Amino acid sequence: MRSFTSVVAALLAAAPLAAQSPAAAATSPAASDSRIAGIVAAVSADRLRADVTRLVGFGTRHTLSDTLSQSRGIGAARRWVKAEFDRIAAACGGCLDVFYVSGMVGPAPRIPQPTEIVNVVAVQRGTSDTGRYVLMSGDIDSRISDVMNATDSAPGANDNASGLAGTLEAARVLTRHRFAGSIVYAALSAEEQGLYGGQILAKWVQEHGWRVTGVLNNGMIGNVQGSDGVTDSSTARVFSDGTPPNETEQERARRRLTGGEVDGVSRQLARYVDRIADRYVPGLDVWMIYRLDRFGRGGHHRPFADLGYPAVRVMETHENYDRQHQNIRVDDGVHYGDVLDGVNFDYARKITALDAATMAALSWAPAPPRAVRLGGAGQPAAVLTWSAPEDSADVAGYRVYWRRTDSPTWDNWEDVGTATRHVFTGRIVDNYFFGVASVSREGYESVLVFPGPGDEARRAGRPADQPVRPASP
Ligand SMILES: [Zn+2]
Repeated sequence: MRSFTSVVAALLAAAPLAAQSPAAAATSPAASDSRIAGIVAAVSADRLRADVTRLVGFGTRHTLSDTLSQSRGIGAARRWVKAEFDRIAAACGGCLDVFYVSGMVGPAPRIPQPTEIVNVVAVQRGTSDTGRYVLMSGDIDSRISDVMNATDSAPGANDNASGLAGTLEAARVLTRHRFAGSIVYAALSAEEQGLYGGQILAKWVQEHGWRVTGVLNNGMIGNVQGSDGVTDSSTARVFSDGTPPNETEQERARRRLTGGEVDGVSRQLARYVDRIADRYVPGLDVWMIYRLDRFGRGGHHRPFADLGYPAVRVMETHENYDRQHQNIRVDDGVHYGDVLDGVNFDYARKITALDAATMAALSWAPAPPRAVRLGGAGQPAAVLTWSAPEDSADVAGYRVYWRRTDSPTWDNWEDVGTATRHVFTGRIVDNYFFGVASVSREGYESVLVFPGPGDEARRAGRPADQPVRPASP
């Protein structure tokens, strides 16, 4: 996002203090920029095309389709995805653990018989903070007009072979590097039947106690000709919840007194993705959408967001409704169906590069700070305090941020060294929002933590159960 209004807001907000403006602060060491720029440049439109073509070649990948055929149906498709992750693992000396995470679903509204829902998961183990994860996903399954039709041709080229191909390609590119934190590449099933694959994996992640700093779910990433008549290959949408749906009544009550309706963990992740696009992905601008997902529709980031994990949906800006969830046909000269021709692979390359750059930056960065608290009511300056993260050896310092409450982006920041407390001289706590991130020696920055009691519990998949101090009048 680079709107004129945000630039103006930044200038206004920064005026009284000699803080760094966004442009001036883009001073990370060249090494970090060039490593991420290299990741962005390494993403291949040709490999995305090859993967989408291969996935379309399974005829249908409907969740209830044949699982025994070697050439058609979701069984063959998921075995191919597993084999592809295995090939990527072999090419990096076994740096990926590849396995299935499955569960039985049904009878359910769109799954009439008990059916095994099978996800394919590949984990690139971190080098130092191995219990911390970022996760990226695409969907294996496809559908046509009738969501229960499991036999007719359902190519699902854009929905969601494109998103899954992006996940495979991110794995190819990122496995050439080693990261402090762990990275998960997930191919999820049964999205169209009710988000079941994501529910199974999110619950599994919670049961395993993973600390999750971000979930990027690739929606459709290849359509550039929208049903709205717009052709656009230079923007991507990032959808995020304003606040976690599982916040406690105490948290809700506290938030009403301290603010933060647009500052939940998923929204901070969306802002991070937005900044990564601005800094590293040429020709792609992020349009943050302040919604969990499209109006009334579902996506596979939602099961993770439901449990309170930071999770966003990354996808094309202009959808084409003739080319999704449609039988392949021509009506009145209009071509319907989610076929290969509808996918723009250079556009899919840019969104995949955004995913990969985001995961690289988060995984080279230290863990985010803990126990971030804001104070300063009735005083001439806001005071932010925090604690070091678990892997504080990786922390070179902290970066504090502030913005006007009506700005969508963190427009102002200052590096404060290894201090764990900062006084915002001259900034009244009532008038701004504040946050803090950890920064590595190389300049890689964690996701920002907004002050409040729930964040770290949520990243660990636990309910926020810390006691809340009563507010003073
Ligand atoms: Zn769909």
